Amino acid sequence: MYVPQFNSPALVSVESANSKALFIWSAMYRMDDTVRVADIDAVGSQTVAIQFDSPSEFAAHPGQFMKLSGEVNGENYNRFYTLSSSDMIDTFEVTVGVDPQEAGPFSEHLGNLTQGDQIHASGPFGQNFYAGEPAVAILAGGPGVGPAVGIGEAAVADNHDVTIIYRTDDPAHGTRLNELDSAGASVAITDESLGRWVTELISDVDKTQIFIYGFEQFVNDATAALETVDIDPSSAKIENFS
Ligand SMILES: Cc1cc2nc3c(=O)[nH]c(=O)nc-3n(C[C@H](O)[C@H](O)[C@H](O)COP(=O)(O)OP(=O)(O)OC[C@H]3O[C@@H](n4cnc5c(N)ncnc54)[C@H](O)[C@@H]3O)c2cc1C
Repeated sequence: MYVPQFNSPALVSVESANSKALFIWSAMYRMDDTVRVADIDAVGSQTVAIQFDSPSEFAAHPGQFMKLSGEVNGENYNRFYTLSSSDMIDTFEVTVGVDPQEAGPFSEHLGNLTQGDQIHASGPFGQNFYAGEPAVAILAGGPGVGPAVGIGEAAVADNHDVTIIYRTDDPAHGTRLNELDSAGASVAITDESLGRWVTELISDVDKTQIFIYGFEQFVNDATAALETVDIDPSSAKIENFS
């Protein structure tokens, strides 16, 4: 099981003044509280986006993740979910893949939440977030499309270059991906090899921060794809969901 690392200011390169202020603040404040579901939407055939009311002190970067905890059928669960909103003002959002074939009861429980339900949340955690880099490329698999749209929207709002390469045969977040495309992002939704799209869409590899979000098989495929086009995977910000 992947063990998440906690924020460490010394390990993070923060590139904009706003991001730096937010980073210092989020390093100081970590939520550990009950939060209310403000809204929940099906954003794909097996994917939901859940918005929670943000406590007033809450601050986080898209790409960081939260721990959601609860009891299902008498069992306690703690699971991690990556932020998929571009900001955390008023609400924060996570995108959850609900796949009864692959997963257990907790993701299904999240998929059944309704507006007004409450759940325990703590965070933010993680260092692999959008930190104001001038060009970003996000490789996403499965529910990794959540941080892809959250980071993409934040970077578009900053007038930065955005590329999203989303491997799936059953896309989710189609509306937000279309909006990003219209706003100037390069978006490829593919069930083919990732390497081709990395070569075609990332024009200046040296200036582009690559992110990888998804379950282990996808992370392995994405890092292998980077190697085939001579990009060092250690330069990527990677979150493995497995
Ligand atoms: C740092 C981090 C960030 C994460 N961010 C997200 C996120 O943003 N969205 C999200 O949906 N999940 C995310 N996860 C995974 C999440 O924490 C749960 O593991 C997942 O929801 C399944 O939980 P479960 O209890 O229902 O099933 P489990 O019993 O925990 O599932 C067992 C295994 O099934 C596989 N699996 C589960 N769901 C899927 C799926 N949809 N596609 C392929 N394989 C799957 C995985 O290998 C998983 O380890 C993240 C995990 C980590 C460690």
